[in-house]
Amino acid sequence: MKIAIFGAGQLAMMMIQADKDKKHDFIVIDPNPNPPASHYAEHIQTEYDDATTLNKIANDCEVATIDFENVCVDAMRKLEKTIPVHPSSHALEICQDRLKEKSLFKKLDIKTTEYYPINNSNDLEKHIDNNKSYILKSRRFGYDGKNQYRIIPNKKIETDLTKKECILEEFVDFDAEVSLICVRSLTGNIFYYPLVENSHTNGILSMSICPSSYSNLQADAEEISRRLLESMNYVGVLVVEFFVSKGNTLIANEMAPRVHNSGHWTIEGANISQFLAHINSISGELNNDLSIDYMPSVMFNILSEHISNKKMNMLKNDYDVFLHDYHKAERKDRKLGHITHISKNRDELIQNMDAILDIL
Ligand code: ATP
Ligand code: MG
Repeated sequence: MKIAIFGAGQLAMMMIQADKDKKHDFIVIDPNPNPPASHYAEHIQTEYDDATTLNKIANDCEVATIDFENVCVDAMRKLEKTIPVHPSSHALEICQDRLKEKSLFKKLDIKTTEYYPINNSNDLEKHIDNNKSYILKSRRFGYDGKNQYRIIPNKKIETDLTKKECILEEFVDFDAEVSLICVRSLTGNIFYYPLVENSHTNGILSMSICPSSYSNLQADAEEISRRLLESMNYVGVLVVEFFVSKGNTLIANEMAPRVHNSGHWTIEGANISQFLAHINSISGELNNDLSIDYMPSVMFNILSEHISNKKMNMLKNDYDVFLHDYHKAERKDRKLGHITHISKNRDELIQNMDAILDIL
């Protein structure tokens, strides 16, 4: 099949790499020069809504997908008239806007943070209780904790975020953050990976561990995610991020309508990676008898600076580790690659994880 991917970052790169038997041809669209996936497929360097590009994709490809959720919804809606786009423009429209996303949580009776739409600084004043903590987030174009502002009780608020449409979320004093990677086939079958436990540094994902220590919440997470997938008639990989409250319940934070950084461990740690599961589902090849199997795994993001050969050799000598390099230049807080370690059991994984962190 000829598959178009809008966005040619590392997620697109890993989707293409997942097609080991080269069953498909890929075209990637990205306005940036030399993005990671351009080393593995034909790259069209234009804006995502470029009319000539959209026509070419409609003519040449059988299905389109994304590696970046902020592609223009209208462009995808137009493309959908000719070829299937997964996830659909409808799903993208919801997931691009924190207010629409949270409204869907509410409509489906899914517990989420208390939130208020904010359109100007007066709205902010109206909703803030000086004794509480909040996070102000722009409704659109947030990633890696960007376009967010933390509001601390009785501290002066200095932000120009309210010039954009925002939502104000009450700050959740959580025990942990977990994510559920799900994949839904064209025929409506849903498969779930075990919950992954995530750690963040300065709002950016730094480490993901699977299994999490919250397997008791797996059934709840699956039920919540099923409602979301079905309500959007979603096809492909969807990731739902949750906070685990102090009382051990799930509070939905947000969704990613694509393969996700917290699922990178599945490349070596599961019998089917999130990338292959996504490609198989959008191309109609996801096995209905699939059963997801995994090994205890941990993934470390490589941020800002590449890891030296010396460190990598030290790791490789002692542990089962796999390095993924995204072919990117160093820049502060940029995701340059990741390392996955897999282990026989969770106890050994946690022990090794600490030792690996020391080396990193
Ligand atoms: P990403 O792209 O990494 O998923 P994002 O920019 O889309 O991030 P969020 O996931 O909403 O934004 O927020 C980033 C991180 O900030 C969360 O993983 C969490 O650690 C923290 N955070 C966000 N919202 C809240 C909240 N309401 N209460 C407490 N912490 C929060
Ligand atoms: Mg997030």
